[in-house]
Amino acid sequence: MDAPLAARDGALTAGVTALQLAGLRKQYGDNVVVAGFDLDVRAGELVALLGPSGCGKTTVLRMIAGLVAPSGGAVRIEGADVTALPPHRRRLGLVFQSYALFPHLTVAGNVAFGLRRQGVRGAELAQRVARALDLVRLAALADRLPRQLSGGQQQRVALARAIAPAPRLLLLDEPLSNLDAQLREEMQIEIRRLQRELNITSIFVTHDQHGALSLSDRICLMDRGRVQQVGTPQDVYFAPANAFVAGFLGRATRLRCRVLHADAGRLHLRLAGGAEIAATGSAAPGSEVEVLVRHEAVRLGAPAAAGLPATVLLRAFAGAHAQLVLRLDGGEELVAEADAAAPDAGARVTVAIDPRFAFVAAP
Ligand code: ADP
Repeated sequence: MDAPLAARDGALTAGVTALQLAGLRKQYGDNVVVAGFDLDVRAGELVALLGPSGCGKTTVLRMIAGLVAPSGGAVRIEGADVTALPPHRRRLGLVFQSYALFPHLTVAGNVAFGLRRQGVRGAELAQRVARALDLVRLAALADRLPRQLSGGQQQRVALARAIAPAPRLLLLDEPLSNLDAQLREEMQIEIRRLQRELNITSIFVTHDQHGALSLSDRICLMDRGRVQQVGTPQDVYFAPANAFVAGFLGRATRLRCRVLHADAGRLHLRLAGGAEIAATGSAAPGSEVEVLVRHEAVRLGAPAAAGLPATVLLRAFAGAHAQLVLRLDGGEELVAEADAAAPDAGARVTVAIDPRFAFVAAP
């Protein structure tokens, strides 16, 4: 890698805190939209801020960028408090949902913009623009205008423009939500590749759990302006900290049930229709709770096998796998992810539920 884009590598040593949000808070009138927000991001990490629409993700990102003034708390970048610094003095790269390219400038002109503002000129400017365009595989389109590009290409230009000045942090706000599904996946991989190659600390705002799970080193799950859990994709998916996280990640059927007994993180439950299953979590014996049964927790067996007897109500083809709607003999309906050769509507089966993927979460 040549010098300008690699210039930050020395500072980006694993384990160093690149960004620290401490007690960050934002209030509009009486409406508290972000509260008690603490997050440490290590150098070189990609952290996704994930949560439902309106939970405060963009507000957090804009406070990091300096575009929104916090009502309280601090933003520290590489150890220095930047809470009072204007955006252009924070040395950050921003990529938004709308590409926000300058329509009258060419691709190369757009990428050169931030570098020019830093005083980069001449051969160095040309070389750094070329390098950034190479990284997003757009070198061949350097002389085009934005209107002559597809949405995916425009977003690549926005990415090249953001990384060319070697920012301390890359902030991405739903950068892929204007792209169709296939392009979104391609761009996700592209962003991850680029982020790894440059070792650039990045914050990625999204409401798309698949993007967050596949792209991030860690995920910060948010709900109603507060951090619900921070962890690796595996941590948050397999060990959700609370009911919100368990319900937000993956797909699950929710069933009412009563706790029969509890031991070491495993609960034994009776569903309303009488079937007994085990799940992960903690709750008091005798209490009425809701269990979230992830689709992949439901395993099918032949009619005579051990398990809960059930009937297939519907089989929906979904490419490599099928989705089944099942009715337990006790009456409850639940959804299973099965292989494409799974039995069709009307078939009698037995169902086993893997307790590792069924959660009773503390409310
Ligand atoms: P997200 O990015 O998770 O969708 P936002 O950070 O955009 O959420 O918004 C969080 C909440 O803050 C929302 O309820 C939104 O209406 C409110 N909000 C955002 N910006 C403003 C503003 N400038 N004035 C008043 N309320 C705002």
